[in-house]
Amino acid sequence: MNNTLGACDCGAVHHPLTVEKIAVGEHALDQELPAYVKAASFQKVAVICDETTEQIAGKKLMAILHEKAEAASVKLEANAAGDVTADEKTLVSALIGIPLDTDVLIAAGAGTIHDIVRFCAFQRGIPFISVPTAPSVDGFTSAGAPLILKGKKQTIQTTAPIALFADLELLRKAPQKMIAAGFGDMLGKVTSLADWEISRLLADEPYCPAAAAITKEALEQCLLRIDDIAAKTREGIEKLMESLIISGLVMLVLDHSRPASGGEHHLSHYLEMKALENQKRQVLHGAKVGCAAIMLADIYRSLTETTWSDEHAEKTVRSAYENLPAGETMEGWMRRVGGPVSLEELDVDEHLLTEALAHAHHLRDRYTGLKIINQYGLLPEMRQNVKHERG
Ligand SMILES: [Zn+2]
Ligand SMILES: [Zn+2]
Repeated sequence: MNNTLGACDCGAVHHPLTVEKIAVGEHALDQELPAYVKAASFQKVAVICDETTEQIAGKKLMAILHEKAEAASVKLEANAAGDVTADEKTLVSALIGIPLDTDVLIAAGAGTIHDIVRFCAFQRGIPFISVPTAPSVDGFTSAGAPLILKGKKQTIQTTAPIALFADLELLRKAPQKMIAAGFGDMLGKVTSLADWEISRLLADEPYCPAAAAITKEALEQCLLRIDDIAAKTREGIEKLMESLIISGLVMLVLDHSRPASGGEHHLSHYLEMKALENQKRQVLHGAKVGCAAIMLADIYRSLTETTWSDEHAEKTVRSAYENLPAGETMEGWMRRVGGPVSLEELDVDEHLLTEALAHAHHLRDRYTGLKIINQYGLLPEMRQNVKHERG
C-alpha cells in the first residue's frame, strides 16, 4: 500500500502508514502478537474487552502475554440496553481501569471497543494494538473515534493502532450477523466509490485514482468469495478481513473516508443518530450500510434515466452510476451471506426512511448522489423507485 500510494502522483496528499505490523493468519495471536510485544520491549500491557470478547479473546490474550509482559485486563460494561457504547461513562471507567504505568493497550473486540481504546490510547499518549474479534467493519485501523458525547455522535481525531493481529480461527467463530455486517460495510463501497467519482467531477473534491482502484479491488475480492464468506471458510474469512483492513488503510493514507463512505454511510449515520435520540438499541453499522447501499444503487440507477435542469450534472451522473449493479443483484449477494437486505428489516419505517433520504446528506459537506436528488428536487420521483420491502 505504501508503495502503490506512495508512487501515486495524483496531487492528493498521501500520508505514510504508521501501522508497523499487520498479521492475518492462523498464528497471529499465539505467536506473532507476543513476538511483537517482546520485540517492541513493551513491559506493561492492558487488554480492553467486554463480557463477550473476554471469553473469545481476552482470557487467551492474558495467558499468551503473561510470559512476555505484565498484563492487566480491563472489562467494559454494557449499558441498560445491553450495548457497550463509546460514551462518557464507558470512556472514563476505561481510563480509570487502565493501570497508570501501562505502556501499550490492546483492543480485543469489534468496532466500539476499538473506538474506546483509540480514545484512551490517545489520552494516555501510548500506542495501541488492534485484535479484531469479528470481521465486522473496516474501521479497525482508523484514527478517528466516533464517540457518543452528551448523547450525540461525534468523531474525534485520535490515533491509529501501531499493529493489528487478526486470528483467522477466532474470526471464523464470529456470529454470522457480524460477518454479514463486515460484508455489508464492503458492499457499501459499490455506492461510495461511485459517489466519490461524482464528488470529484461535480464538486472538485480530492480524488486519488490509485486509492479508488485499491478499494475497488478489495470489494471485488469479497464478491468473488461470497460463498466462502457465507460458509466461514478460512479463505473466505481471510479475504473479508483483508478487504476490510485494506479499505481502512486507504482511508488512513488519504486521511479522509471518501473512497469508503458515500451516501450509504450518511444514511446509516443518520439512522444511528435517530436510534440514539430515541434510545433504541443500535443495529450493526455494516448491516445498515449494506441495506442502504442496496437501496441507493437502485435510486442512483434510476437517476441515470431522469432528465433535469443541469445537462453537465446529468451526463456525469450517467457515467458514474449507469454501471452500478442492480439492487436486486446486491440483495442476492447479501442474502447469501445471511445478512439483512432492506432497512425495513432493520425496523426503519417509511416515515423515518423518507426523513433520512431528505436530511442525511446534510450530515457531511460532501457531494453524493444523495445530495443531488435533494439539490435538484428529485426526491419525490426517486422515492417512487425505492423498494423499501425486499425479498
Ligand atoms: Zn463503514
Ligand atoms: Zn493518489
